[in-house]
Amino acid sequence: MTIGVPKEIKTNESRVALTPGGVFELVNYGHQVYIQETAGEGSGFSDEDYREAGAIMLPSIEAVYAMAEMIVKVKEPVPQEYPLIKRNQVVFTYFHFASSESLTRAMIASKAVCIAYETVRDEDGSLPLLTPMSEVAGRMAIQQGAKYLEKPIKGRGVLLGGVPGVPPGRVLILGAGIVGVQAAKMAAGLGAHVTVLDINMKRLRYINDMMPPHVVTEFSSVYNIKRHIKNHDLIIGAVLIPGAKAPRLITRAMLKDMRPGTVLVDVAVDQGGCFETTRPTTHEDPTYIINDIVHYCVANMPGAVPYTSTLALTNVTLPYVLKLANLGWETACKEYPDLGRGLNIVKGKVVVDEITNAFESGL
Ligand code: NAD
Repeated sequence: MTIGVPKEIKTNESRVALTPGGVFELVNYGHQVYIQETAGEGSGFSDEDYREAGAIMLPSIEAVYAMAEMIVKVKEPVPQEYPLIKRNQVVFTYFHFASSESLTRAMIASKAVCIAYETVRDEDGSLPLLTPMSEVAGRMAIQQGAKYLEKPIKGRGVLLGGVPGVPPGRVLILGAGIVGVQAAKMAAGLGAHVTVLDINMKRLRYINDMMPPHVVTEFSSVYNIKRHIKNHDLIIGAVLIPGAKAPRLITRAMLKDMRPGTVLVDVAVDQGGCFETTRPTTHEDPTYIINDIVHYCVANMPGAVPYTSTLALTNVTLPYVLKLANLGWETACKEYPDLGRGLNIVKGKVVVDEITNAFESGL
């Protein structure tokens, strides 16, 4: 099969869909891989690295789309790419169709086969191609939160780990899923006192078993949240209700109960956020302050660490890319139902009800 990897052109996106290691694997199986020149630059991979791995480098995005039977990407295609996508071409990437009617309509019109990373789903309901990005965001949440707790950036001026004779900072984590566990691990590693709240007792039991004693768990309730926000320095929003907007766990009125300089990191911002005062921010301008409370709400946190994120993402996407390339999309999606659940739009037909139902005007 011919496989194409265009350079990501969405603003602030430096990840790339295949590493030189991935190219090497595909070429070993007899496939041809076309990579757009400088596509890997943002993630630390040179054109030379790709050439050595067996890729054919192409100078333009148009050439990559024209040559490939399957396009592998990171982010959803942007309008500039819509006309480049060909009938029957397989496009394997994050799409998030329900959040963009124009993208959905463009992909229907293209008659391509759109397989979305975010809906590839294992038997147990887990989402293997979303997990690594949650892991990155969870770990980053503490790194960012620790930075914004510094006084020059209007934080409380608290060092999370404390020092001998001074108690550590206190971190409150709402949600003990993938983001929450990774955040708890990082915060605990820094020596902070960590409180994790969830409504799922299985998750709390897991944290309780795995983490050191300075990570404590409690059931998530309005009462407990109100109690804890008064004396925690860094609060991480990491909740998810699948298929729904994030619940608003911290209201605007509750901000006045927090100490000035408290930092809120809303990782769940991409699902609408779990704080009433959340609005999406960017890596260029990541924070804003309301009532002396610092808000960090970057919707694409992994984008700031493209080297790590590219490796983490391609670790999990490559096995699927190999299946698609070796078997063709139809056989691969039949033989591997987890991959099959990634099919969203097939040659002009939407095959996932959530997408059809997402737009009031209908499709
Ligand atoms: P997850 O499903 O693994 O975990 C979510 C947890 O929230 C679950 O354990 C669930 O029981 C818990 N929860 C639900 N309602 C709750 C409540 N009222 N109180 C406390 N806990 C509650 O999800 P995840 O992979 O950890 O992702 C968390 C969020 O982070 C999602 O919204 C995801 O989209 C987002 N995310 C954002 C970025 C970013 O760059 N901003 C990156 C990755 C993931």
